[in-house]
Amino acid sequence: MFIYLYDEAATPTLDLGGITNYIKDKLPSSQIEVRENFITFHLARLERRGREEKMSHLAEELARAKVRKLGAPLNDLFVPLKGEIGYERRRLENQNKRVAGILYDGFVLSGILQGLLPPEECALNQVHIVFTNQLFGTWDEHDRRYHARVSIYNKPSLISTTGIVEAPAKPREYYLLKQQYTALGMYDAAEVGLKGNFRGRFIDYNDERMTRVMKGYVLQALMHQLTGEPFCTDKSCRLYNAHWQEEVIRSQVENPYDLCPAHERMLEALLS
Ligand SMILES: [Zn+2]
Repeated sequence: MFIYLYDEAATPTLDLGGITNYIKDKLPSSQIEVRENFITFHLARLERRGREEKMSHLAEELARAKVRKLGAPLNDLFVPLKGEIGYERRRLENQNKRVAGILYDGFVLSGILQGLLPPEECALNQVHIVFTNQLFGTWDEHDRRYHARVSIYNKPSLISTTGIVEAPAKPREYYLLKQQYTALGMYDAAEVGLKGNFRGRFIDYNDERMTRVMKGYVLQALMHQLTGEPFCTDKSCRLYNAHWQEEVIRSQVENPYDLCPAHERMLEALLS
């Protein structure tokens, strides 16, 4: 298997060297290549004129991928404003900056990035895993709204360093306390007090556990590629699909074993 990892420079605690060693340990026969940011890398392969055209097209596609209302799916007929396309265009020129506040449709975003992959890198045994600080979500038909996600498993797979902070829910007491502080008008106290009281109980920006946590999400992307099923029901397995921060910490940081015995055996069988 050929694995391409794309870096996300805005998160200094994410160490792709550490992730590479971890994959090597799990899948010794795989070939791993670490690349810079996905968009910068693939745009650089194009000729100057083609690159200009591609960037204008991408800027418009990205502006269309933006979720405008959490309670409404994307509308293909929507025409983004010039300013929104301009914003995306500037972002394309400076990919290493942290983005704030915008939620994209994750599958649409992955589809846009897929358009940048050269045909010779699209074989079944080639896996592209993109780290990004963009926040993305998926539309849930059941409750008819978007939910922020940590990862999308597709070609390419996307893993968000912002999503890991924002998508899994924090402990219930966190929200209760935040509500109480806010009701009293103590916004600053809420910030300081909450971060202090709950330190360690959720993954924060630039968390020193970032690399360790992300190993599990990379494993999920690889499992998705190998078997079509990225998740496990065992709450201590790296492949557990966590919806709460405490579940993330249990499965990725405090897990007594790396993979559960069933997945350990499955991986062994896949490798033999
Ligand atoms: Zn498992």
